[in-house]
Amino acid sequence: MNDLASAPLLAQSNPERQRKPDWIRVKAPTSKGYGETRQLMRDLGLNTVCEEAACPNIGECWTKKHATVMILGDVCTRACAFCNVKTGMPRAIDLLEPENVAIAAAKLGLSHIVITSVDRDDLPDGGAGQFVKVIEALRRNTPATTIEILTPDFRGKMRPAVEAIVAAGPDVYNHNLETVPRLYPTIRPGARYYASLRLLEEVKAHDPLIFTKSGVMLGLGEQRLEVHQVMDDMRTAGIDFLTMGQYLQPTPKHTKVIEFVTPKAFDAYGSIARAKGFLQVAASPLTRSSYHAGDDFRAMRALRQAQGERNKMGKAAQRA
Ligand code: SF4
Repeated sequence: MNDLASAPLLAQSNPERQRKPDWIRVKAPTSKGYGETRQLMRDLGLNTVCEEAACPNIGECWTKKHATVMILGDVCTRACAFCNVKTGMPRAIDLLEPENVAIAAAKLGLSHIVITSVDRDDLPDGGAGQFVKVIEALRRNTPATTIEILTPDFRGKMRPAVEAIVAAGPDVYNHNLETVPRLYPTIRPGARYYASLRLLEEVKAHDPLIFTKSGVMLGLGEQRLEVHQVMDDMRTAGIDFLTMGQYLQPTPKHTKVIEFVTPKAFDAYGSIARAKGFLQVAASPLTRSSYHAGDDFRAMRALRQAQGERNKMGKAAQRA
């Protein structure tokens, strides 16, 4: 029996009536750095997923001036059951947004930036063109900053969208599967599991050297073997980096937490994921796609480099 099988997955049997477990609680954000990050985003008219998704890590991340910018407005054309972002008819694209993102990256001194967006099913390109403009503005203004993008699935326009974005040259392409396929109809009704996997395969097909990344939320009622299957599917799609975190219900209107997965169970999932061959894995209750993204990116890049060196040495030894 492995650690995961022996770990109590249901730490709290009725989360509705019980408070969040200790390992989920975080301090209210009060630091000077938090206030400065918040003010900069306001001054530049930028949205962040940190605020819009009510991320529990905002105090820690913003104190360190790490913010994840959410482009293409703050209104999403989908209505996923887990997500706190407003839904409805979005406003027109902000033409100044790409330059403002670059200004924010420079002022925050970011060595690695994560850019995400709302879903924009209303736009002919799904918003891909704005991702490209943001990447270009960052390359022009802060060339040393590595770029990670976390995109929607570009339903119905995936191929051209992926092609354009990958050609712009981000360092990491992230698209989250979010949950196991069985839960898609209730948790992510506007999306298709296999379409999301195909998107990530398409990214690698266009650029085999780009790092691909995906994540799932746990605590939505998924079974352990279903999570293992998702890991296998991700590895088949060549995904390098897996993130796993606890789902938290943002408001009573959103889908309920079915279980609080223990830190020990997260560790066990992490070990299994590493054994399945992911280059990088982040698995903990507070893990989010962009949590510690810069440090994890640097570690992942170093690992790939080391693997490449080992392969070269192995080939040289075979030839000798
Ligand atoms: S984990 Fe990501 S979304 Fe959450 S506060 Fe940190 S940077 Fe923002």
